[in-house]
Formats: sequence, structure tokens, C-alpha cells
Amino acid sequence: MIPPIGPGTKTAHHVPVDLGSLTVELPLIQVCGVRPGPRVVITAGMHGGEFCGIEAATRLAAQLTPEEVHGDVVICPVANPPAVYDGRLGVSPLDGVNINRVFPGDPAGGPTERLAAWHTAHLGAGADLYVDLHSGGIDETLRDFVGYRLTGDHALDARTRELAHAVGIEDVIIGRTAEGGNSHAAAARRGIPALLVEVGDRGTRDPDTAARLVGGLLRLLGKAGVTALTDGSEPMPVREWLWACSVTAETTGLWYPALTAGDEATAGAPLGHLVSPADGTRTTVVSPATGRLFYGMHALTVRRGAELAAIAERKVA
Ligand SMILES: [Zn+2]
Repeated sequence: MIPPIGPGTKTAHHVPVDLGSLTVELPLIQVCGVRPGPRVVITAGMHGGEFCGIEAATRLAAQLTPEEVHGDVVICPVANPPAVYDGRLGVSPLDGVNINRVFPGDPAGGPTERLAAWHTAHLGAGADLYVDLHSGGIDETLRDFVGYRLTGDHALDARTRELAHAVGIEDVIIGRTAEGGNSHAAAARRGIPALLVEVGDRGTRDPDTAARLVGGLLRLLGKAGVTALTDGSEPMPVREWLWACSVTAETTGLWYPALTAGDEATAGAPLGHLVSPADGTRTTVVSPATGRLFYGMHALTVRRGAELAAIAERKVA
């Protein structure tokens, strides 16, 4: 893990990370409070083209001082520099890998697997709370939400639920298991309360959206016992959802969505159409579930396997 710095100190620098074929520099801000408390790790920029999380992470890092912090806050606003600076896509231009599908990573693997492994070893280890900030990408519509995974450890799940609600974003989506290569899922499997926070979409970088996210993160840090700082904004009443499904393109072609993020999807009804750019052949893509579309493909051009829509169903209390 990143070693604690002395109480009452704040550091900001770039950390070199060896990915085998090249070395990348990760920006890292660490704020160690004058008083003891939990260690909170916040990452943003796992994916390229998701700007609000990066903006909010840097604003939060600038705002926190050792005098106002209990414990240790570690913020990495650009967790995946190749994807963020070079491709501005969900996959890394180094190897075409989506880092958020390969956690906990592999220190002997390809560059993106090595980067995930570095995060697991250096940032995940020793964390009492892990938060990964994402947005809809440049080519995605997204309705803001907080996500977390059920682990089967009832005390951990209850604590994570409490923290997820504290952010004050209206929609909280629960994943039924902690399986898979997402950073927050991998952290949950190691017993760390872990949240996915998704705010903003389609490459937005507007200051109000980032400020709203900072307000939610301050509420979260307050609930975690880290700081009493607040931006004065009110949390929204929370509704819970269960992840239902993700729908991917079965052919490469042109995508004409029928729904956008926030719309209600109905099982068996069209989510949109895939059209061949050669002969206009039209394939209807239907929803496998009834619920709400939380993110969807906005781009006209999609390749086979691209994620077209993700749907969650309302959780019955
Ligand atoms: Zn993302």
C-alpha cells in the first residue's frame, strides 16, 4: 500500500508505475489528518472521456487540508493515463483492454492488467473505503447513480449500503454479486466497503455537475467520519435498484437508439436498431428486462460487442 505520510501533512506528486513496455506517471494527492481516522481511497479516470469524476477528484483534493481531515485520504484523479490522455475511450490504446474488467489485475500480465494490479496492491490494500468515480463516456448517455455490490457479508453489505445512500445521489444500484473485473467489485471481495459513483455523460465537463459531485463526496466523507466539511447542498432522497442486464451489439454497424438514459425500458420492446452501412439491413435490439435504462450508447457507429444499454429494475422493498 501507499505508506501513510506523517500526521498533519499533505503531499501531491506523480508516481511512476512500470507497465512492462512503458512507465506511466499517476497523479496522487495524499492528505493525512492531524487526527486519526479511516483511510479513504478515491480514484477517477479509470476510463478515458469521463471528465466529471476527474474534475471532482481534483477539486476535492485541492479542498481537503490535514486540519479538516480525520485519517488519511488518498486521491488518484487519473488512474489510467493511457486511456485518459491518449484514447479518451473506455479501453486503453496500449492493448485495447478495459481496465474496469480486469481487476484485481495481474502484475505479470499486459500493460492494463499490470496497472490494475498496481492499484490493487498500492491503493486498494489497507483502505477502509474505496470510491471509484466514473461518468458516461463521450459516446454514452448516463443517468447519475451510485453502485455497489453485495458480497454476502451482511455487516459489510449494510455498511456499504449506508455509505452509498450518504452520497445523496437519487439512484443507488445494487449488484447482486461481487463477481467480475470492476475495481469496486474486486475491492468488495477483499472486504472493503466500495462504491462506484457515476455522474455526467457525453463528455460533459460543466462546473455545476462537478461541484454537485464534490458535494456528494463530502457527504460520503462525513458519513465515513473523515471530515465535517460540507458544501451546504441537500442530499436527494434515495431509491434503490437492482442491476438487471447489459445489452451488447451483435453486429458492427450504425446504432439508432429508441431510448436514452433515464427512460423506462420494457421487456420485449425495442431498445433501438442496428443498421448495416452497406445495404441498410435493419436489426431490432429488444430489451431483455423491464426497468430503467441507466446508460446507453450515444454514438452512431458501434462495433460488435459494444455495450448498447444497461438496465436496472426497481428494487421492491
Ligand atoms: Zn467508466
